[in-house]
Amino acid sequence: MAKQEDIFKNVVSHAKEYGFIFPSSEVYDGLSAVYDYAQNGVELKKNIREYWWKSMVQMNENIVGLDAAILMHPTTWKASGHVDAFNDPLIDNKDSKKRYRADVLVEDYAEKLNQKAQKEIEKAKVRFGDAFNEEEFITTNARVVEYLAKKKEILARLAKGMSEDLQDVKALIEELEIADPETGSKNWTDVKQFNLMFGTKLGASAESAMDLYLRPETAQGIFVNFLNVQKSGRMKVPFGIAQTGKAFRNEIVARQFIFRMREFEQMEMQFFVRPGEEMQWYHHWKEARLKWHLSLGLGKDNYRFHDHEKLAHYANAAADIEFNFPFGFKELEGIHSRTDFDLKAHEQYSGRKLQYFDPELNENYVPYVVETSVGLDRMFLAVFATSLQEEVLEDGSTRTVLKLPAVLAPTKAAVLPLVKKDGLPEVAKKIIEDLKWDFNVAYDEKDAVGRRYRRADALGTPFCITVDHQTLEDQTVTIRHRDTMKQDRVAIGDLKSIIENEVSMKNWLMKM
Ligand code: ATP
Repeated sequence: MAKQEDIFKNVVSHAKEYGFIFPSSEVYDGLSAVYDYAQNGVELKKNIREYWWKSMVQMNENIVGLDAAILMHPTTWKASGHVDAFNDPLIDNKDSKKRYRADVLVEDYAEKLNQKAQKEIEKAKVRFGDAFNEEEFITTNARVVEYLAKKKEILARLAKGMSEDLQDVKALIEELEIADPETGSKNWTDVKQFNLMFGTKLGASAESAMDLYLRPETAQGIFVNFLNVQKSGRMKVPFGIAQTGKAFRNEIVARQFIFRMREFEQMEMQFFVRPGEEMQWYHHWKEARLKWHLSLGLGKDNYRFHDHEKLAHYANAAADIEFNFPFGFKELEGIHSRTDFDLKAHEQYSGRKLQYFDPELNENYVPYVVETSVGLDRMFLAVFATSLQEEVLEDGSTRTVLKLPAVLAPTKAAVLPLVKKDGLPEVAKKIIEDLKWDFNVAYDEKDAVGRRYRRADALGTPFCITVDHQTLEDQTVTIRHRDTMKQDRVAIGDLKSIIENEVSMKNWLMKM
């Protein structure tokens, strides 16, 4: 099995074993691509949300928050384009009954051609050494030229088929002899468009019930409230509205744990600007968002931008911040310049004006919008997977340690009496009573102290505070640091400031 797969399996099982994430309704064998956050997961998730909220809302005087309802008037989704265009092309395998995204099957095939070309390039690099000219090789080596040309041709035909003729996407799958990745069967149905929105109903009787959707993105709740917020908050363009909350998408293929869920949480900010100034703000937010990610210290090389060449109908510029997940670089956050598309569409469908009077220009206009949109669950996965490490210690043994950024750790300190007698538990509990006003702290008296340290490491707890017999004499304890395993003897009275120094959001956000 590939190492990457091992790592990913380990992430999923650690998340369950240590009370971070459980499959939803597991007693009934779970519900596909739906997950529950457990006692430690809920704290980590809350801390990520708070870290985002603080940097976005609290630190920017021209950004305010909102918590719009999940259920919205159904015309919202007509105006936004989701009813007509929020589709993925699906294809079923008639033998295995498995469902796939037709575009992904073709893209994976194209990627394999790309990998074959890359392999040839790597081989040639070794063969020719310093004399190797990669550019020349790519354009002259017959095999590489053929692989890359084929890849390009396939992707171009896919793009055309997706917008004009889905039957041709099926024809392409058949011509390339693409088989069901799990069973090898090539017995496919036609390709159909599949709308990703979940439908539901509002109202008591079948006749009068109104068809609704669970929101597929939080952004529209911000757009329809744009003028309410602007007027009641006396906001001046440029200004932003931020929101975190659940979104729902009936994803066709959802096999990557919390990376692609059917119910997930977004953290979005829509920034309203003067028409013509959107590009400047787009670049500003691209940089600002990357800085926010980097402040968590998960490693600069784990992030990259992917600028979109093919833009959505509402955008005039778009980029993803991609993260190096256990299964490769994938989208973590989107930054989109959405023009005035959404506000104009809501004006048109509602018949109400959604315009701003700019006192400096002395004119009315529909603002342009730059959006930053990050998945909270994907952030969780990025932080959790990168932090989970196996370390070989000096004595040759290994330890599993979850090196979460201390600011996000669910529990900041575990307080451990060395033994369960001689009054040590009482002192430990007294320390808990003092610290719990400021931090999430845990008490642990079970097992030998070494095992308790390991348990705290696996939970990502940055500090272990051990109460021993010396504590009774001089009011000092040992404090053990998770990452270095270094232990210091400190006064009980200093614990608060030591912990504060490493976990305070202020200290972390100031690194931005
Ligand atoms: P993808 O291409 O991966 O499907 P997207 O481009 O459709 O994502 P957006 O509509 O831009 O995603 O949503 C913004 C963010 O919401 C994404 O960057 C991602 O972090 C998160 N997100 C989107 N879909 C899901 C999902 N099904 N599960 C978890 N997070 C999601």
